[in-house]
Amino acid sequence: MKHRSVSVCVIGGGIIGSWAALHLAEAGVDALLLEQFPLPHTRGSSQGASRAFRYFGEETMDRLDYSMERWRALEHACGEPLFLRTGLVNFGPPGDPWLERHLAIARAAGKDCEWLDAAAIRQRFPAMHYPEDWGAAWDPEGGILLAQRCLAATQDRFRAIGGAVLQACASAIDAAADGAVTVSLREDAGQAEIAIKCEQLVVCAGPWTGRLLPTLRPALKTLAIPVTYWRDASGECDAARGFPIIYNARLTGIYALPACEYPGLVKVLYHGGPEAEPETRDVPDRAPWERRVGAYVREHLPALDGHQPAIREACMYTMTPDNDPVIDRLSERVTVGCGFSGSGFKHSPATGHMLAALALGREAELPAGFQRARYAARRLAVA
Ligand SMILES: Cc1cc2nc3c(=O)[nH]c(=O)nc-3n(C[C@H](O)[C@H](O)[C@H](O)COP(=O)(O)OP(=O)(O)OC[C@H]3O[C@@H](n4cnc5c(N)ncnc54)[C@H](O)[C@@H]3O)c2cc1C
Repeated sequence: MKHRSVSVCVIGGGIIGSWAALHLAEAGVDALLLEQFPLPHTRGSSQGASRAFRYFGEETMDRLDYSMERWRALEHACGEPLFLRTGLVNFGPPGDPWLERHLAIARAAGKDCEWLDAAAIRQRFPAMHYPEDWGAAWDPEGGILLAQRCLAATQDRFRAIGGAVLQACASAIDAAADGAVTVSLREDAGQAEIAIKCEQLVVCAGPWTGRLLPTLRPALKTLAIPVTYWRDASGECDAARGFPIIYNARLTGIYALPACEYPGLVKVLYHGGPEAEPETRDVPDRAPWERRVGAYVREHLPALDGHQPAIREACMYTMTPDNDPVIDRLSERVTVGCGFSGSGFKHSPATGHMLAALALGREAELPAGFQRARYAARRLAVA
Protein backbone atom coordinates (compact mmCIF):
# COMPACT_ATOMS: atom_id res chain seq x y z
CA MET A 1 0.00 0.00 0.00
CA LYS A 2 1.22 3.50 -0.89
CA HIS A 3 1.28 6.18 1.80
CA ARG A 4 0.94 9.90 1.46
CA SER A 5 2.32 11.70 4.51
CA VAL A 6 1.04 15.04 5.79
CA SER A 7 1.30 16.82 9.13
CA VAL A 8 -2.47 17.19 9.63
CA CYS A 9 -5.29 15.55 7.72
CA VAL A 10 -8.79 17.04 7.99
CA ILE A 11 -11.65 14.71 7.01
CA GLY A 12 -14.66 16.60 5.66
CA GLY A 13 -14.89 19.51 3.23
CA GLY A 14 -18.02 21.07 4.77
CA ILE A 15 -17.79 24.51 6.34
CA ILE A 16 -16.29 23.23 9.62
CA GLY A 17 -13.52 21.15 8.06
CA SER A 18 -12.78 23.89 5.53
CA TRP A 19 -12.26 26.50 8.27
CA ALA A 20 -10.18 24.06 10.33
CA ALA A 21 -7.99 23.40 7.28
CA LEU A 22 -7.65 27.13 6.55
CA HIS A 23 -6.53 27.85 10.12
CA LEU A 24 -3.98 25.04 9.92
CA ALA A 25 -2.58 26.38 6.64
CA GLU A 26 -2.47 29.89 8.12
CA ALA A 27 -0.39 28.44 10.96
CA GLY A 28 2.10 27.20 8.35
CA VAL A 29 1.12 23.56 8.73
CA ASP A 30 1.19 21.06 5.86
CA ALA A 31 -2.55 20.26 5.84
CA LEU A 32 -4.66 18.01 3.61
CA LEU A 33 -8.44 18.38 3.33
CA LEU A 34 -10.12 15.10 2.41
CA GLU A 35 -13.64 15.17 0.92
CA GLN A 36 -15.59 12.14 -0.27
CA PHE A 37 -17.66 13.99 -2.93
CA PRO A 38 -16.64 16.23 -5.82
CA LEU A 39 -16.89 19.80 -4.55
CA PRO A 40 -19.25 21.57 -4.34
CA HIS A 41 -21.87 18.99 -3.39
CA THR A 42 -25.35 18.99 -1.85
CA ARG A 43 -25.31 15.90 0.36
CA GLY A 44 -24.18 17.17 3.77
CA SER A 45 -25.09 20.06 6.07
CA SER A 46 -23.30 23.02 4.49
CA GLN A 47 -25.11 23.02 1.15
CA GLY A 48 -27.38 25.74 -0.18
CA ALA A 49 -26.95 29.45 -0.66
CA SER A 50 -28.03 30.95 2.67
CA ARG A 51 -27.56 30.66 6.44
CA ALA A 52 -28.76 32.99 9.19
CA PHE A 53 -26.24 34.91 11.24
CA ARG A 54 -27.60 36.30 14.49
CA TYR A 55 -26.31 37.61 17.79
CA PHE A 56 -29.68 37.57 19.52
CA GLY A 57 -30.35 34.35 21.40
CA GLU A 58 -26.71 33.45 22.09
CA GLU A 59 -25.32 33.27 25.63
CA THR A 60 -21.94 34.78 24.76
CA MET A 61 -20.72 36.78 21.78
CA ASP A 62 -16.98 36.05 21.57
CA ARG A 63 -17.18 33.26 19.00
CA LEU A 64 -19.65 35.27 16.94
CA ASP A 65 -17.62 38.50 17.06
CA TYR A 66 -14.49 36.61 16.03
CA SER A 67 -16.38 34.81 13.27
CA MET A 68 -17.93 37.97 11.82
CA GLU A 69 -14.49 39.56 11.72
CA ARG A 70 -13.18 36.54 9.79
CA TRP A 71 -16.17 36.49 7.42
CA ARG A 72 -15.55 40.17 6.64
CA ALA A 73 -11.83 39.56 6.11
CA LEU A 74 -12.58 36.63 3.81
CA GLU A 75 -15.05 38.79 1.91
CA HIS A 76 -12.33 41.38 1.45
CA ALA A 77 -9.82 38.72 0.32
CA CYS A 78 -12.13 37.08 -2.21
CA GLY A 79 -13.58 40.36 -3.50
CA GLU A 80 -17.26 39.38 -3.44
CA PRO A 81 -20.03 39.77 -0.87
CA LEU A 82 -20.41 36.91 1.61
CA PHE A 83 -22.82 38.54 4.05
CA LEU A 84 -26.07 40.43 3.51
CA ARG A 85 -27.21 42.38 6.55
CA THR A 86 -31.01 42.25 6.83
CA GLY A 87 -31.68 42.41 10.57
CA LEU A 88 -33.56 39.70 12.42
CA VAL A 89 -36.78 39.57 14.46
CA ASN A 90 -37.53 37.06 17.21
CA PHE A 91 -41.22 37.09 18.10
CA GLY A 92 -43.04 36.57 21.38
CA PRO A 93 -45.43 38.12 23.86
CA PRO A 94 -44.31 41.22 25.77
CA GLY A 95 -42.58 40.34 29.05
CA ASP A 96 -41.52 36.89 27.78
CA PRO A 97 -38.69 36.01 30.25
CA TRP A 98 -36.49 34.33 27.62
CA LEU A 99 -36.71 37.30 25.25
CA GLU A 100 -36.05 39.75 28.08
CA ARG A 101 -33.04 37.77 29.30
CA HIS A 102 -31.53 37.65 25.83
CA LEU A 103 -32.16 41.34 25.20
CA ALA A 104 -30.22 42.00 28.40
CA ILE A 105 -27.37 39.67 27.33
CA ALA A 106 -27.13 41.29 23.90
CA ARG A 107 -27.20 44.84 25.28
CA ALA A 108 -24.59 44.00 27.92
CA ALA A 109 -22.36 42.80 25.07
CA GLY A 110 -22.81 46.15 23.32
CA LYS A 111 -25.23 44.90 20.66
CA ASP A 112 -27.91 47.27 19.49
CA CYS A 113 -30.81 44.85 20.04
CA GLU A 114 -34.18 46.39 21.00
CA TRP A 115 -37.81 45.46 21.61
CA LEU A 116 -40.28 46.32 18.84
CA ASP A 117 -43.90 46.37 20.03
CA ALA A 118 -46.82 45.16 17.92
CA ALA A 119 -47.49 48.64 16.50
CA ALA A 120 -43.86 49.03 15.44
CA ILE A 121 -43.93 45.60 13.78
CA ARG A 122 -47.12 46.45 11.86
CA GLN A 123 -45.61 49.70 10.65
CA ARG A 124 -42.18 48.36 9.68
CA PHE A 125 -43.13 44.93 8.39
CA PRO A 126 -46.76 45.00 7.20
CA ALA A 127 -46.34 41.62 5.46
CA MET A 128 -46.07 39.87 8.87
CA HIS A 129 -49.17 38.91 10.85
CA TYR A 130 -48.59 37.88 14.47
CA PRO A 131 -50.93 37.88 17.48
CA GLU A 132 -52.15 41.44 18.23
CA ASP A 133 -50.16 41.76 21.45
CA TRP A 134 -46.92 40.13 20.24
CA GLY A 135 -43.80 42.12 19.61
CA ALA A 136 -40.30 41.03 18.70
CA ALA A 137 -36.70 41.42 19.73
CA TRP A 138 -34.89 43.20 16.89
CA ASP A 139 -31.26 42.30 16.11
CA PRO A 140 -30.15 44.85 13.50
CA GLU A 141 -26.83 43.07 12.92
CA GLY A 142 -28.43 39.78 11.90
CA GLY A 143 -28.28 38.78 8.28
CA ILE A 144 -27.63 36.14 5.66
CA LEU A 145 -24.32 34.41 5.10
CA LEU A 146 -24.23 33.50 1.41
CA ALA A 147 -23.35 29.94 2.32
CA GLN A 148 -22.28 28.46 -0.99
CA ARG A 149 -19.97 31.40 -1.65
CA CYS A 150 -18.67 31.29 1.93
CA LEU A 151 -17.73 27.63 1.55
CA ALA A 152 -16.05 28.13 -1.82
CA ALA A 153 -14.17 31.22 -0.57
CA THR A 154 -12.88 29.34 2.49
CA GLN A 155 -11.64 26.43 0.35
CA ASP A 156 -10.16 28.77 -2.30
CA ARG A 157 -8.26 30.67 0.40
CA PHE A 158 -6.99 27.37 1.86
CA ARG A 159 -5.68 26.31 -1.57
CA ALA A 160 -4.24 29.77 -2.26
CA ILE A 161 -1.99 29.60 0.78
CA GLY A 162 -0.71 26.13 -0.01
CA GLY A 163 -3.37 23.74 1.33
CA ALA A 164 -4.22 20.59 -0.60
CA VAL A 165 -7.68 19.11 -1.22
CA LEU A 166 -8.10 15.44 -2.12
CA GLN A 167 -11.35 13.88 -3.25
CA ALA A 168 -11.43 10.51 -1.52
CA CYS A 169 -13.53 8.73 1.07
CA ALA A 170 -11.89 7.85 4.38
CA SER A 171 -12.92 4.33 5.32
CA ALA A 172 -10.94 3.66 8.50
CA ILE A 173 -8.75 5.38 11.06
CA ASP A 174 -5.93 3.39 12.68
CA ALA A 175 -2.87 3.98 14.81
CA ALA A 176 0.37 3.50 12.83
CA ALA A 177 3.28 1.61 14.38
CA ASP A 178 5.21 4.84 15.01
CA GLY A 179 2.28 6.44 16.84
CA ALA A 180 1.05 8.48 13.85
CA VAL A 181 -2.47 8.02 12.43
CA THR A 182 -3.30 6.15 9.25
CA VAL A 183 -6.42 7.03 7.30
CA SER A 184 -7.39 4.32 4.80
CA LEU A 185 -9.21 5.45 1.67
CA ARG A 186 -12.05 3.59 0.02
CA GLU A 187 -10.87 1.93 -3.11
CA ASP A 188 -13.83 2.44 -5.41
CA ALA A 189 -13.95 4.70 -8.48
CA GLY A 190 -10.57 3.45 -9.62
CA GLN A 191 -8.68 4.93 -6.68
CA ALA A 192 -5.26 3.40 -6.23
CA GLU A 193 -4.78 1.62 -2.92
CA ILE A 194 -3.48 4.40 -0.76
CA ALA A 195 -3.50 5.57 2.83
CA ILE A 196 -2.84 8.92 4.41
CA LYS A 197 -0.35 9.01 7.24
CA CYS A 198 -0.58 12.05 9.49
CA GLU A 199 0.71 13.35 12.79
CA GLN A 200 -2.71 14.71 13.68
CA LEU A 201 -6.20 13.99 12.37
CA VAL A 202 -9.18 16.35 12.54
CA VAL A 203 -12.55 14.71 11.84
CA CYS A 204 -15.28 17.08 10.62
CA ALA A 205 -17.49 14.56 8.86
CA GLY A 206 -20.88 16.12 9.68
CA PRO A 207 -23.65 13.48 9.71
CA TRP A 208 -21.12 10.77 8.78
CA THR A 209 -19.05 11.31 11.95
CA GLY A 210 -20.46 8.30 13.83
CA ARG A 211 -19.24 5.97 11.07
CA LEU A 212 -15.63 7.11 11.47
CA LEU A 213 -15.70 7.56 15.25
CA PRO A 214 -18.01 4.81 16.61
CA THR A 215 -17.53 5.94 20.25
CA LEU A 216 -19.47 9.10 19.40
CA ARG A 217 -22.20 7.35 17.48
CA PRO A 218 -24.61 6.72 20.40
CA ALA A 219 -24.57 10.44 21.25
CA LEU A 220 -25.30 11.72 17.74
CA LYS A 221 -28.69 11.80 16.07
CA THR A 222 -28.98 12.71 12.39
CA LEU A 223 -32.15 14.37 11.08
CA ALA A 224 -33.43 15.27 7.62
CA ILE A 225 -34.60 18.88 7.90
CA PRO A 226 -37.37 20.07 5.58
CA VAL A 227 -36.35 23.22 3.71
CA THR A 228 -39.20 24.85 1.80
CA TYR A 229 -39.41 27.93 -0.44
CA TRP A 230 -42.67 29.91 -0.84
CA ARG A 231 -43.54 32.31 -3.63
CA ASP A 232 -43.87 35.99 -2.75
CA ALA A 233 -45.72 37.64 -5.64
CA SER A 234 -45.82 40.98 -3.75
CA GLY A 235 -42.03 41.38 -3.66
CA GLU A 236 -42.37 42.71 -0.09
CA CYS A 237 -40.52 39.81 1.53
CA ASP A 238 -37.27 40.34 -0.34
CA ALA A 239 -33.92 40.81 1.41
CA ALA A 240 -33.14 43.62 -1.02
CA ARG A 241 -36.23 45.49 0.23
CA GLY A 242 -35.23 45.20 3.89
CA PHE A 243 -37.35 42.21 4.89
CA PRO A 244 -35.61 40.60 7.88
CA ILE A 245 -34.92 37.07 9.00
CA ILE A 246 -37.77 35.76 11.17
CA TYR A 247 -36.50 33.60 14.00
CA ASN A 248 -39.38 31.95 15.79
CA ALA A 249 -37.87 28.52 16.40
CA ARG A 250 -38.14 28.57 20.19
CA LEU A 251 -41.93 29.02 20.28
CA THR A 252 -42.98 27.44 16.98
CA GLY A 253 -39.99 25.52 15.59
CA ILE A 254 -39.98 27.82 12.55
CA TYR A 255 -37.49 30.27 11.08
CA ALA A 256 -37.55 32.06 7.74
CA LEU A 257 -35.09 33.87 5.50
CA PRO A 258 -36.25 36.63 3.14
CA ALA A 259 -36.17 36.03 -0.61
CA CYS A 260 -32.54 36.07 -1.74
CA GLU A 261 -31.44 32.50 -2.53
CA TYR A 262 -33.99 31.97 -5.33
CA PRO A 263 -35.59 35.17 -6.73
CA GLY A 264 -39.05 35.78 -5.26
CA LEU A 265 -38.96 32.75 -2.95
CA VAL A 266 -38.91 33.00 0.85
CA LYS A 267 -37.09 30.15 2.62
CA VAL A 268 -39.04 28.70 5.57
CA LEU A 269 -37.60 25.90 7.71
CA TYR A 270 -38.67 23.69 10.57
CA HIS A 271 -36.03 23.24 13.25
CA GLY A 272 -36.45 19.48 13.32
CA GLY A 273 -37.37 16.54 11.13
CA PRO A 274 -37.36 12.75 10.90
CA GLU A 275 -34.27 10.74 11.82
CA ALA A 276 -32.38 9.81 8.66
CA GLU A 277 -29.06 8.60 7.36
CA PRO A 278 -27.30 11.05 5.03
CA GLU A 279 -27.38 8.66 2.03
CA THR A 280 -31.12 8.04 2.36
CA ARG A 281 -32.28 11.38 3.72
CA ASP A 282 -35.10 11.70 1.18
CA VAL A 283 -36.68 8.38 2.20
CA PRO A 284 -38.29 9.28 5.58
CA ASP A 285 -41.56 11.19 5.25
CA ARG A 286 -41.05 14.91 5.96
CA ALA A 287 -44.71 15.74 5.24
CA PRO A 288 -45.78 16.15 8.92
CA TRP A 289 -43.07 18.81 9.42
CA GLU A 290 -43.85 20.48 6.10
CA ARG A 291 -47.52 20.72 7.08
CA ARG A 292 -46.52 22.69 10.20
CA VAL A 293 -44.46 25.02 8.01
CA GLY A 294 -47.43 25.46 5.66
CA ALA A 295 -49.77 26.32 8.56
CA TYR A 296 -47.24 28.88 9.82
CA VAL A 297 -46.90 30.50 6.40
CA ARG A 298 -50.67 30.81 5.98
CA GLU A 299 -51.15 32.25 9.47
CA HIS A 300 -48.20 34.64 9.74
CA LEU A 301 -46.94 35.41 6.23
CA PRO A 302 -50.07 36.03 4.15
CA ALA A 303 -48.11 37.80 1.39
CA LEU A 304 -46.77 34.36 0.40
CA ASP A 305 -48.63 31.86 -1.73
CA GLY A 306 -49.39 29.47 1.14
CA HIS A 307 -51.04 26.85 -1.04
CA GLN A 308 -47.86 24.79 -1.29
CA PRO A 309 -44.11 25.36 -1.38
CA ALA A 310 -42.61 26.15 -4.77
CA ILE A 311 -39.47 24.15 -3.89
CA ARG A 312 -38.86 21.38 -1.35
CA GLU A 313 -35.35 20.43 -0.28
CA ALA A 314 -33.76 18.60 2.65
CA CYS A 315 -30.57 19.13 4.58
CA MET A 316 -28.93 17.16 7.41
CA TYR A 317 -28.68 18.21 11.07
CA THR A 318 -26.38 16.31 13.44
CA MET A 319 -27.73 16.69 16.98
CA THR A 320 -26.22 16.02 20.40
CA PRO A 321 -28.44 15.49 23.47
CA ASP A 322 -27.82 19.08 24.71
CA ASN A 323 -27.77 20.64 21.20
CA ASP A 324 -24.21 21.89 21.70
CA PRO A 325 -21.49 20.65 19.34
CA VAL A 326 -18.46 18.57 20.24
CA ILE A 327 -15.21 20.47 19.62
CA ASP A 328 -12.56 18.45 21.35
CA ARG A 329 -9.52 16.22 21.19
CA LEU A 330 -10.66 12.60 21.50
CA SER A 331 -7.17 11.18 21.87
CA GLU A 332 -3.58 12.36 21.58
CA ARG A 333 -3.82 12.44 17.77
CA VAL A 334 -7.51 12.74 16.92
CA THR A 335 -9.59 15.92 17.19
CA VAL A 336 -13.27 16.14 16.30
CA GLY A 337 -15.80 18.85 15.42
CA CYS A 338 -19.37 17.56 15.04
CA GLY A 339 -22.97 17.94 16.22
CA PHE A 340 -23.52 21.50 14.98
CA SER A 341 -27.28 20.98 14.48
CA GLY A 342 -28.92 24.12 13.13
CA SER A 343 -26.40 26.75 14.12
CA GLY A 344 -22.89 25.73 13.13
CA PHE A 345 -22.39 27.84 10.03
CA LYS A 346 -22.19 31.29 11.58
CA HIS A 347 -19.62 30.19 14.18
CA SER A 348 -17.52 28.12 11.78
CA PRO A 349 -14.51 30.50 11.61
CA ALA A 350 -14.21 30.34 15.43
CA THR A 351 -14.84 26.59 15.44
CA GLY A 352 -12.13 26.06 12.84
CA HIS A 353 -9.78 28.13 14.99
CA MET A 354 -10.55 25.91 18.00
CA LEU A 355 -10.06 22.67 16.05
CA ALA A 356 -6.74 23.80 14.59
CA ALA A 357 -5.52 24.94 18.02
CA LEU A 358 -6.50 21.60 19.57
CA ALA A 359 -4.75 19.62 16.82
CA LEU A 360 -1.59 21.71 17.25
CA GLY A 361 -1.63 21.58 21.06
CA ARG A 362 -2.15 25.34 21.23
CA GLU A 363 -5.52 25.40 22.97
CA ALA A 364 -4.09 27.55 25.77
CA GLU A 365 -3.93 30.37 23.19
CA LEU A 366 -7.70 30.33 22.60
CA PRO A 367 -9.71 33.20 24.09
CA ALA A 368 -11.50 32.19 27.31
CA GLY A 369 -14.77 33.41 25.75
CA PHE A 370 -14.58 30.53 23.25
CA GLN A 371 -15.71 28.30 26.16
CA ARG A 372 -13.72 25.23 25.22
CA ALA A 373 -14.95 23.17 28.21
CA ARG A 374 -18.57 23.65 27.16
CA TYR A 375 -17.90 21.66 23.97
CA ALA A 376 -15.94 18.80 25.55
CA ALA A 377 -16.80 15.26 24.42
CA ARG A 378 -16.75 13.89 27.97
CA ARG A 379 -20.00 15.72 28.85
CA LEU A 380 -21.72 13.18 26.56
CA ALA A 381 -20.18 10.34 28.58
CA VAL A 382 -18.58 8.87 25.48
CA ALA A 383 -14.91 9.80 25.74
C1 LIG B 1 -31.51 23.18 6.78
C2 LIG B 1 -30.39 23.73 7.57
C3 LIG B 1 -30.42 25.05 7.97
C4 LIG B 1 -29.39 25.59 8.72
N1 LIG B 1 -29.43 26.89 9.08
C5 LIG B 1 -28.39 27.45 9.73
C6 LIG B 1 -28.38 28.83 9.98
O1 LIG B 1 -29.30 29.54 9.62
N2 LIG B 1 -27.29 29.34 10.62
C7 LIG B 1 -26.24 28.58 11.01
O2 LIG B 1 -25.28 29.11 11.59
N3 LIG B 1 -26.23 27.24 10.76
C8 LIG B 1 -27.27 26.67 10.13
N4 LIG B 1 -27.29 25.33 9.86
C9 LIG B 1 -26.22 24.48 10.40
C10 LIG B 1 -24.98 24.47 9.55
O3 LIG B 1 -25.28 24.54 8.19
C11 LIG B 1 -24.22 23.21 9.91
O4 LIG B 1 -24.03 23.17 11.30
C12 LIG B 1 -22.87 23.13 9.22
O5 LIG B 1 -23.03 23.29 7.83
C13 LIG B 1 -22.20 21.82 9.56
O6 LIG B 1 -21.07 21.67 8.73
P1 LIG B 1 -20.13 20.39 8.81
O7 LIG B 1 -18.89 20.77 8.10
O8 LIG B 1 -20.05 19.93 10.24
O9 LIG B 1 -20.92 19.25 8.07
P2 LIG B 1 -21.05 18.93 6.49
O10 LIG B 1 -21.34 20.16 5.73
O11 LIG B 1 -22.00 17.81 6.36
O12 LIG B 1 -19.60 18.48 6.10
C14 LIG B 1 -19.10 17.21 6.37
C15 LIG B 1 -18.32 16.80 5.16
O13 LIG B 1 -17.59 15.62 5.45
C16 LIG B 1 -17.57 14.82 4.29
N5 LIG B 1 -17.30 13.45 4.70
C17 LIG B 1 -18.04 12.71 5.56
N6 LIG B 1 -17.50 11.50 5.72
C18 LIG B 1 -16.38 11.47 4.98
C19 LIG B 1 -15.39 10.49 4.73
N7 LIG B 1 -15.46 9.27 5.29
N8 LIG B 1 -14.36 10.78 3.90
C20 LIG B 1 -14.27 12.01 3.30
N9 LIG B 1 -15.21 12.98 3.49
C21 LIG B 1 -16.24 12.72 4.32
C22 LIG B 1 -18.97 15.01 3.73
O14 LIG B 1 -19.08 14.61 2.39
C23 LIG B 1 -19.20 16.49 3.97
O15 LIG B 1 -18.80 17.27 2.86
C24 LIG B 1 -28.31 24.78 9.10
C25 LIG B 1 -28.25 23.43 8.70
C26 LIG B 1 -29.28 22.93 7.93
C27 LIG B 1 -29.22 21.50 7.52
